[in-house]
Amino acid sequence: MKLSIVRSINTKRYPSLIGQSIEDLETLSTSLGEPSFRGRQLFDWIYRKKVDDFTKMTDIPKLLQDKLKGYPFHPLNILKTNSSSSKETQKYLLTTKNGMTIESVLMIKKDRATICLSTQVGCAVDCSFCATAKMGFVQNLSVGEIIDQYFQLERLSDTKITNVVFMGMGEPFLNYKNSIAAAKLLNHEKGINLGARRITISTAGIIDKIKKFTNERHPFRLAVSLNGSNHDQRLKIMPITKNQSFQNLLEAIKTYTNQSRKRITIEYVLIEGINNSKKDSLKLIEILSQIKCKLNVIPYNEINSIYKRPTEERIHVFLNPFKNASFPVTVRWSKGQDIDAGCGQLATNIK
Ligand code: SAH
Repeated sequence: MKLSIVRSINTKRYPSLIGQSIEDLETLSTSLGEPSFRGRQLFDWIYRKKVDDFTKMTDIPKLLQDKLKGYPFHPLNILKTNSSSSKETQKYLLTTKNGMTIESVLMIKKDRATICLSTQVGCAVDCSFCATAKMGFVQNLSVGEIIDQYFQLERLSDTKITNVVFMGMGEPFLNYKNSIAAAKLLNHEKGINLGARRITISTAGIIDKIKKFTNERHPFRLAVSLNGSNHDQRLKIMPITKNQSFQNLLEAIKTYTNQSRKRITIEYVLIEGINNSKKDSLKLIEILSQIKCKLNVIPYNEINSIYKRPTEERIHVFLNPFKNASFPVTVRWSKGQDIDAGCGQLATNIK
């Protein structure tokens, strides 16, 4: 009996500090018998100075440093790093404390270093063209697990991260609370202080959460994966369209752009014979001309599925009608396909 009590005390798991808000750290300080301003000092060390060693926190008294000893900083561990042949793309495999693995990608181009964060282990949305979908949904990531990807990759790559996209594994809007809290922590002016315009949250189109995001007036950028030019076509490759109709999604997108006055990014995975006809280009132009948007075409990155990436020539044929479109169009010639780090190629633990 006694022994088991001792064991349970010894193995008590303290929450990781990365992921805690300024208020959480104030509460932690007072619970340890210290004034709440110590929590604000901790926030400054962890998020602004990016220090993960209590002994280096010179204005934190030794007594508090000792009380904090059992608290880990990082909720994640790095398992593996992979660089693509161009070195511009690096893929990282990380593990959570309960042994789940997730992937994060760092893309470096000139003076821009963008990290692609995962928000879930696996995904419930089940898009037929996406590797993550094949894992099914496993679990949500905590706030700390989401932003620790940022801390770990910045440290390991020795690169200052300038942009964050929530486009890794999972559907951020099905882990809404943690994804928004993570974005707020990245943006916090007393901490990491990454500009809100450098933070993009990408959703497969969870309509009630797009509405919530609109009403809450978050400053972050929003991207929606449309991936089809009409309801039936989208339904075939994105089964969520059944309950999130194409028309309702467009309405929610319009309301967002009208209320926020922000430009939304519309993502469009281009798949041969599925959504890349001339009719699709023309329909998309018609739809998107009414929306304050930017179109981002992502030629399909092949995974183990029935779909094919259009040839470069076919991609250009699809893009041609957009020359006179009223909105900007970009093409993501996805990076890191050789290491399966391109869009939609992230998957771990597939049995
Ligand atoms: N669940 C979110 C974010 C993760 S996916 C969302 O759907 O937006 C990030 C982007 O990659 C999405 O636009 C998605 O449609 C796209 N994508 C998924 N699988 C892909 C693949 N095999 N090739 C190219 N893009 C893909």
